[in-house]
Amino acid sequence: MSYDDKLDQALARLHDEGRYRTFIDIERHKGHYPHATRTRPDGSRQSVTVWCGNDYLGMGQHPVVLSAMHEALDATGAGSGGTRNISGTTVYHKRLEAELADLHGKEAALLFTSAYIANDATLSTLPKLFPGLIIYSDALNHASMIEGVRRNGGAKRIFQHNDVEHLRELLAADDPAVPKIIAFESIYSMDGDFGPIQAICDLADEFNALTYIDEVHAVGMYGPRGAGVAERDRLMHRLDIINGTLAKAYGVMGGYIAASAKMCDAIRSYAPGFIFTTSLPPSVAAGAAASVAFLKTAPDLREAHQTQARILKMRLKGLGLPIIDHGSHIVPVMVGDPVHTKMLSDMLLEDHGIYVQPINFPTVPRGTERLRFTPSPVHGPREMDALVQAMDALWSHCALNRAEAVG
Ligand code: PLP
Repeated sequence: MSYDDKLDQALARLHDEGRYRTFIDIERHKGHYPHATRTRPDGSRQSVTVWCGNDYLGMGQHPVVLSAMHEALDATGAGSGGTRNISGTTVYHKRLEAELADLHGKEAALLFTSAYIANDATLSTLPKLFPGLIIYSDALNHASMIEGVRRNGGAKRIFQHNDVEHLRELLAADDPAVPKIIAFESIYSMDGDFGPIQAICDLADEFNALTYIDEVHAVGMYGPRGAGVAERDRLMHRLDIINGTLAKAYGVMGGYIAASAKMCDAIRSYAPGFIFTTSLPPSVAAGAAASVAFLKTAPDLREAHQTQARILKMRLKGLGLPIIDHGSHIVPVMVGDPVHTKMLSDMLLEDHGIYVQPINFPTVPRGTERLRFTPSPVHGPREMDALVQAMDALWSHCALNRAEAVG
């Protein structure tokens, strides 16, 4: 057996299915995002507009964030130099956790190096704290939650996506005395649909279950202070553990959970994904804290974001393109085939300087491959016009169906 042959076979499988992923090499320019410069594989350079980033509000280049990061970098140096327990807890980490606890109206928050790690580490640790725990997990939960649930060694039940009746059946079928937690998302990032937060909290009350919500695609963007959809719907107090990221709307990096002081203390004490890894650099924590604090008082930016999403959806619908519209800020255009999706993405990039990455299996189910646009307040009318014209031309050029939008 040759190890190289095995690697070739594994990669060939992806090429055969048309879902081999290629990096697009871009350099963002501070103050000019969503404009960036792409370096092609042959070394030539091209100006592009980024339409698939998760820096939803442009906070990655905001002066408030950058000056907090510069200050912390100059004051303390590059890395934290340790795990949280061994010299890696600084005033910057503590300040950010306090900012996040306040954001979500919880007693405490716990930082991780990403929201992926926060989900994985927390969900895989919970059965150690609650022996016999059953996790009820939405079928379309993010890979990080699936991984945490898979690794935790406890019992799991998968309920059909957003199907509270199915969830009820599963809860009712289990021993009432056994500890339970329901894990779901507030916004599912590939379709842009909302989780039924209130109905799930009601079921949790009825069956004495805890609740775990991933607000990764909502924090910074929804609710009066940007705490997410649960804040918007006045349901935050009913959620036991709230997960969020500092890498998308907050424009920096890192992830967290917000919960009771006792819950955070227990996770902090038991989760290997928290204990055995170096903490975030202080400058990153400082930038994230500045971003969270800033967005607590920036409803205008949130409104501008929603307006941009509404305009883009309206214009793409006007062309008869098959977009999914659940009323969130995410704009998926369905293509339904990995090869076509990649081809459209390549043509948008090469011919129009528009960068939108193809979304394939396993991120979405096979047959639902798509282009996923993320409009933001930093995409102006010029960028929007260019995108709409390019999509119109491409749809005609490729003789693709112009279908009714799905809502
Ligand atoms: N949860 C959801 C729903 C996500 O979409 C993502 C990332 O794309 C994550 C968690 C992980 O977030 P992070 O990038 O901070 O690891």
